[in-house]
Amino acid sequence: MAGKGPAIGIDLGTTYSCVGVFQHGKVDIIANDQGNRTTPSYVAFTDTERLVGDAAKNKIAVNASNTIFDVKRLIGRKFSNFEVQSNMKFWPFKVIACEGKPKLQAEHIGKTKTFTSEEISSMVLVKMKETAEDYLGMKVTNAVIAVPAYFSFSQRLATKDAAFIAGLNVLRITNEPIAAALGYGVDKTLSGEKLVLIFDLGGGGFDVSIITIHESSLFEVRSSVGDSRLGGRDFDNRLINHFLNEFKRKYKKDISRDDRAKRKLRTACEKAKRTLSSSTEANVECDSLFGDINFHTKITRAQFEELCADLFRGTLIPVEKALRDAKLDKSSIDEIVLVGGSTRIPKIQNLLSEFMNGKELNKSVNPDEAVAYGAAVQAAILSGDRSDTIKDVLLIDVAPFSLGIETAGGVMTKMIEKNAKIPISVTQTFTTYSDNQPAMMIQVFEGDRAMTKDNKCLGKFDLDGIPLAPRGVTQIDVEFDFDANGLLTVLAIDKRNRNSKKITITNDTERLSKEEIERMVSDAEKYKKEDEKQKQSLAARNKMEDYIFNVKQACEESLNWLDNNLFAEKEEYEDKMEELQKVCIPFETKDHSGAQNN
Ligand code: ADP
Ligand code: MG
Repeated sequence: MAGKGPAIGIDLGTTYSCVGVFQHGKVDIIANDQGNRTTPSYVAFTDTERLVGDAAKNKIAVNASNTIFDVKRLIGRKFSNFEVQSNMKFWPFKVIACEGKPKLQAEHIGKTKTFTSEEISSMVLVKMKETAEDYLGMKVTNAVIAVPAYFSFSQRLATKDAAFIAGLNVLRITNEPIAAALGYGVDKTLSGEKLVLIFDLGGGGFDVSIITIHESSLFEVRSSVGDSRLGGRDFDNRLINHFLNEFKRKYKKDISRDDRAKRKLRTACEKAKRTLSSSTEANVECDSLFGDINFHTKITRAQFEELCADLFRGTLIPVEKALRDAKLDKSSIDEIVLVGGSTRIPKIQNLLSEFMNGKELNKSVNPDEAVAYGAAVQAAILSGDRSDTIKDVLLIDVAPFSLGIETAGGVMTKMIEKNAKIPISVTQTFTTYSDNQPAMMIQVFEGDRAMTKDNKCLGKFDLDGIPLAPRGVTQIDVEFDFDANGLLTVLAIDKRNRNSKKITITNDTERLSKEEIERMVSDAEKYKKEDEKQKQSLAARNKMEDYIFNVKQACEESLNWLDNNLFAEKEEYEDKMEELQKVCIPFETKDHSGAQNN
């Protein structure tokens, strides 16, 4: 499916997504049809249409149960996953279990529809793809997509599936902190080794990573600490509670159980929060918040900081942990890079800078665009762009986590170490641990803990038909092959009888089947057609409205003129009439020919 044309970089975020392209020696972050450089990762279904991005988010107050967001928390995970279970309570949309996988439900044009997370993600990806296509004026198929450093094998593969459904060819699934570091590092010629701390505080998640950049080419994740429960949404929640209390004091009414009112308040609070990053005071205006009460109030930056004081301070804990995990002292960090919309909050910047002994923070790229920026640079490099600014950057892909097999006593025996350069192929010889053992079970795990029970099982198989022998005699070669596409194949061979068996890790339990993917691809086509139809009828409607207003205005002006010119000459009336006809007739003929063409 690899196509020609420019390759784009996509930050597929939990709350907002962003797309960029490297052109003429620099990165352009592309604004969507609403003029916004980030697009909410929201998909909404209504009685008449499907909305993606700003249009979906803007309508959430009136269409909550059919507005889906946060799917990044679901993708590639099992329904029983702790993260899935604990988040479910807070979502207004319905999540159901389907063969162990979480699926999303919504009412769409009078029918109950079920979607996988891959499908919803693909809809957001299509939006980003189209945003780029509109801007570039051509088809785009190649993309680099960034995912969190902690994303597991199945989460990465599921993201790839989502891209496939969206009609994208994935050049690479990259790590968000690496993309961000690349976004900042690429303009400068780095020499030697640099340690970069990436502080990524978004809408619904917080990640701190420490990266080593070797000679501006090899990017290695030294440590990565995530707190998926802290982000901009928590700050919004504090504001919401504050205003609910204020409302109660002022109007003696508790509206904390009124979901509609709370959603309205949430939108206003997020806006106020953003304002407070650049102003010291913000207004909150919610008309008819409850009944006919227009709730108009304001908040100062100092108040906001007090409301969130513990949360803001809490952002330093993962920083400490990331330093500890990487066995580094804070003074050894060369660059501190801010990523994620919430790092625009001045107080957070101050706290971080203070904690890092007053070190200046790097703000050379917009924090909410840094990941897409770096992904766009990677996309250009991987598609062979030789521009001066990037030609010396080497991109070495590394294994995002260790891979190994379980050996006696539940021990994790690593075959491929975290950060090993890929593609890589490793073989180790194992033996039976009991006399006359007829088969050997090969269980493949990912993770860095010493015992397999603390790591994640990716798949297993039995190599049987082992000729009977005392323990320790049989020799089985196990080969791990991690290819450039991020696919892992595990092969086991009995050295004596050459009997062998292998699996390619696709993580069936959490992944989609080929048939499912095919269906989703065809559904995506269907949606595209529906959207196109929707777009066309909207365009026709707008055209008609334009025409009516033009004619109406011309008629009103003519009427006015008539009223003021009760006794004009014949020629004057004729001239005015001709003028009026000029406005009406050409529009009319143009409109008709347009309609025939459609
Ligand atoms: P994601 O969580 O998807 O990675 P972003 O990095 O774009 O998303 O972060 C989105 C969060 O950043 C939202 O909670 C949003 O309210 C917040 N945000 C965006 N701009 C600002 C700002 N100027 N001040 C404070 N918070 C902001
Ligand atoms: Mg992000």
